[in-house]
Amino acid sequence: MENVYLRKEDCCNCSACYNTCPTQAISMKSDEEGFLYPVIDKELCIDCHSCVNICPLIYDGNYKEKTVPNFLVAKHKREEVLMNSTSGGVFTAISDVILKEGGVVYGADFDDEFHVLHKRAENYEQRNRMRISKYVQSNMGNTFEQVKKDLMNKRKVLFTGTPCQNAGLRGYMGDSSLVENLYLCDVICHSIPSPLVWEDYKRLLEKEYKGKLTSIQFRSKTIDWSRENSNKTFLFTTSHSEKIHTDERFYQLFFGNKTIMRPSCEQCPFTDIHRASDITIADYWGIEKYAPEWNDKKGVSLILINNEKGSNLLKKCSEELKYETRPMEESLAEQQRLSESIKFPKKREKFWHDYRKYGFEYIIEKLTK
Ligand SMILES: Cc1cc2nc3c(=O)[nH]c(=O)nc-3n(C[C@H](O)[C@H](O)[C@H](O)COP(=O)(O)OP(=O)(O)OC[C@H]3O[C@@H](n4cnc5c(N)ncnc54)[C@H](O)[C@@H]3O)c2cc1C
Repeated sequence: MENVYLRKEDCCNCSACYNTCPTQAISMKSDEEGFLYPVIDKELCIDCHSCVNICPLIYDGNYKEKTVPNFLVAKHKREEVLMNSTSGGVFTAISDVILKEGGVVYGADFDDEFHVLHKRAENYEQRNRMRISKYVQSNMGNTFEQVKKDLMNKRKVLFTGTPCQNAGLRGYMGDSSLVENLYLCDVICHSIPSPLVWEDYKRLLEKEYKGKLTSIQFRSKTIDWSRENSNKTFLFTTSHSEKIHTDERFYQLFFGNKTIMRPSCEQCPFTDIHRASDITIADYWGIEKYAPEWNDKKGVSLILINNEKGSNLLKKCSEELKYETRPMEESLAEQQRLSESIKFPKKREKFWHDYRKYGFEYIIEKLTK
């Protein structure tokens, strides 16, 4: 086979193809925007088409549930959890259940150089590193293979990630009975930014602040948890001093300019109430209008229960989590990504042309002029 996908927009980098290839003919290679795509070694490929057959963007129905989910508002009961979570701390509550039952948790973490990648957690310390949204596409590596190994060893597994990563894992697992012990949790996903821009941004911060980055936090709650403020507090420290700095330029590129996201995000089939997971988590935007008694400046979550498995998992969280059913219409009105994918501006092409020609610092200078 020549290629897994026909057009770049048809590949979301879930890595199901890479993990499933029986002859390891597929490697994931970065393109000029820094996004990973599968590349087939024709010498090794045996034309079995396993990669294409499980691809969540190609597969009819995209591995989504057919039933309409139950929508809930939720909040963790412990303040420490709320303050160290992006929204209302649901990820901590559900992963606690899995860890207490001897299971393992998969989610997005940083490595020592602050690259974003999926990792495996067997204890609370490793799990805590997965908290907080990291607005960069994570490198999945051989995560799906590891998930399968854990399931074969009779461990319960909670996989967390973007909707396309969850769908990819569903495709990879196929109709295996092992999925009985697999719990899938996705986020409502705005879209996913480029790892290359992230790399260049980190280097720029190190240059400007004269030191190696020593900590990073997207979406800190130093102002509060609210739509207006939650994206204003990107915090970081460097080896130069103890001082905590903030900088908004990455957010500006992501949420403002809308030029740094993966091409497939513009045609995302997962911007839908029908999810490719058991449970979906997000921010409960608009809660101050609909149920002010639930509003909390420390964070409130939206949960979509997509099937019985999700429902059973949530029930086990009732000691840690406060939750209540809410009308679906509230979230349909507030969460654009439940009904439509992002639209890129016309300037996206020029942006990448300038990026290649003049480099990141030129782009940033133009942005902040
Ligand atoms: C790229 C991205 C876009 C999002 N867009 C929206 C949106 O449009 N609307 C909305 O309401 N919510 C969105 N969210 C979800 C929201 O930001 C919170 O992640 C979610 O509500 C969980 O919060 P929490 O307090 O329960 O968990 P936290 O403790 O904050 O846990 C974060 C969870 O997100 C996962 N995660 C973090 N970074 C990544 C990543 N790069 N790739 C895959 N998984 C990751 C972790 O594995 C963990 O499960 C988005 C999240 C991400 C990562």
